[in-house]
Amino acid sequence: MPHPLIALVLSMTSTLGTAPSAEVSVRYELAGSPRAEQARKLLRDSDALKTKIKVPQPVKVVAKDCGSPEALWDHAERRITICYQLVDEVRRTMKGIAETEEVGSGAASARMDGALSVVFHHQLGHALTTLNGMRDSEGQADQFAALTLAADAPKRVVPAAEARHLLAGHTGVDHLSGPTESATFACLLYGSDPVKHAEIAKGGWVPAERAPSCADEYARVNTALGSMAVKAGG
Ligand SMILES: [Zn+2]
Repeated sequence: MPHPLIALVLSMTSTLGTAPSAEVSVRYELAGSPRAEQARKLLRDSDALKTKIKVPQPVKVVAKDCGSPEALWDHAERRITICYQLVDEVRRTMKGIAETEEVGSGAASARMDGALSVVFHHQLGHALTTLNGMRDSEGQADQFAALTLAADAPKRVVPAAEARHLLAGHTGVDHLSGPTESATFACLLYGSDPVKHAEIAKGGWVPAERAPSCADEYARVNTALGSMAVKAGG
């Protein structure tokens, strides 16, 4: 029997460099209240949990009632939990912002879908981080999230950057607060295709002085992590 530390290193190196080939499966649990049911429907209709991203080992996504507004990745269980209470928190926060800005209902709905996609891809980012034997951190999860979102849902990239920017100043939305983190996330998304995603720079969601370097920032992250964040058939 190998020394425990050697066994750990072996198990980590065997994950690294292997082409990711396992699937992400999604399950929606029943909601226990009308408010949670509204959140369940919103999440389901948004298609935010639909993904073709491949992972090193099978990952389960469970949307459910938790009693608190959370989203989390459990490495031991290989499970992402998205709580209906967090979806509700995001919904109410985005609704409040839309009311103060008098944004149209189509734009508000695109932003909402973008916000839910950010919630999911951030957790998927945590999953890809630890499943690839890397040290978990918010920044690492966000780097993966930008790559997977750009690969998986290119049409959702602009509303996702906008939603994250809007949520950055609000506390209580798990993992997505903070203007610095939001700017880095927006920079990577913008940098993935500065022509197609020009609105991210125009909107000021990435600071103007940083925008010209975002394509390089994205290229660096993509070189380091791109082979671990691939989409089926793409
Ligand atoms: Zn996080």
